Amino acid sequence: MKLRELLNSRKITLSFEVFPPKLNASFDNVYNAAMGVANLNPSYMSVTCGAGGTTGGNTLKIAKDIQDKYKVTTIAHLTCVGATRESIKGELDDMRAAGIENILALRGDKPKDYEGEPFKDYHYASQLIADIREYIGDDICIGGACYPEGHVDAVNKALDIDHLKMKVDAGCEFLTTQMFFDNNIFYNFLYRVKDKGITVPVIPGIMPITRATQVANAVSMSGSNMPERFRNLVDRFGDDPEAMQQAGIAYATDQIIDLIANGVNHIHVYSMNKPEVARALQNNLSKIVI
Ligand code: FAD
Repeated sequence: MKLRELLNSRKITLSFEVFPPKLNASFDNVYNAAMGVANLNPSYMSVTCGAGGTTGGNTLKIAKDIQDKYKVTTIAHLTCVGATRESIKGELDDMRAAGIENILALRGDKPKDYEGEPFKDYHYASQLIADIREYIGDDICIGGACYPEGHVDAVNKALDIDHLKMKVDAGCEFLTTQMFFDNNIFYNFLYRVKDKGITVPVIPGIMPITRATQVANAVSMSGSNMPERFRNLVDRFGDDPEAMQQAGIAYATDQIIDLIANGVNHIHVYSMNKPEVARALQNNLSKIVI
């Protein structure tokens, strides 16, 4: 199923994201955890990919298995850093052959230890999106990434949104946000995006932080602001894994409920191959989401 219909409807959806094993990592644990999330039958799922080919065909294998075994519609992520137009066409052919109908098209970042020129035929996701559209036409639903707090490379937020408009004009049908922990940042972003004439669905990405050690990572990876209210929870419960997990899930549920109360219909959860966290969130919202 192409997601454009669902995302333009007024149904309330909760989607989960999983990641594939890296090429040099053990496959089974990561695979089984991803399938554990699929087994919860969420509204849809997305499968990330390692930029520059660091996860090889594992994204596609996991996305295909989620669709075939669990009948959950899946978005496969596709990055263009280090790619050529020919290599992208090859990846698109493989995706189509596997039954993938939704792609999150990304630039990606140069992987550590990557040798060679990182930007070959592509410098920005908008170029990838334009190529996918040209190659496949409308028979694919394409999404892109956006950054309520600004992308780390962006000169300023206004220019970042100008570039986002280029991405949408190239054929991007929905945007999923980088994680954020303060909903006011998202509401402010929505206002600025609409002001720029971007009308595609903007799906907030919520990351449940369930371990104190995740905090530093999440902040450095995303550049997101961590509100004092959440820092206080980490100070209080960081040494007690069960309490921290419960507090993290409660905080994420609270963020989601606030989003829904403010009219947001589609919420994406960075569930990070943790079926128990995804299940707890789903249970908290079981009568609210489809
Ligand atoms: P772009 O949209 O190309 O933007 C990158 C930067 O270039 C921005 O600063 C933008 O302002 C600027 N820019 C864009 N167009 C122009 C232009 N014409 N001229 C000048 N500047 C321009 N990474 C992975 O490796 N794998 C994944 O699976 C993955 N999934 C993600 C999912 C989500 C929801 C998000 C938010 C991020 C994800 N990422 C993933 C991370 C992403 O690849 C990085 O953040 C990357 O640095 C930017 O990718 P992008 O597609 O947003 O790039």
